[in-house]
Amino acid sequence: MSRKCSFCGSTDFRAAEVQYVYRNNGSMLIVNGVPCEECTYCGERYYEADVLKKIEREFEAIRSGKRRPQRELTVPIDDYSRLVG
Ligand SMILES: [Zn+2]
Repeated sequence: MSRKCSFCGSTDFRAAEVQYVYRNNGSMLIVNGVPCEECTYCGERYYEADVLKKIEREFEAIRSGKRRPQRELTVPIDDYSRLVG
């Protein structure tokens, strides 16, 4: 692979499957097992355009009710200024 990491300049990558968090206007879709190339030095991840397109399409399909996700998660959200301790 002749690619060069745009963050650290390393040319050493490995194929990995990771959790990808897609964000859109305050909504999120978490996709597990997403293929990517990971920089072995700094850990920056690089995805094929087709992979990202597919995730984006899935997000739209779920939002429009055409598809259901495998499962859903309720995530607590808070503001730092409210935290105690
Ligand atoms: Zn890197």
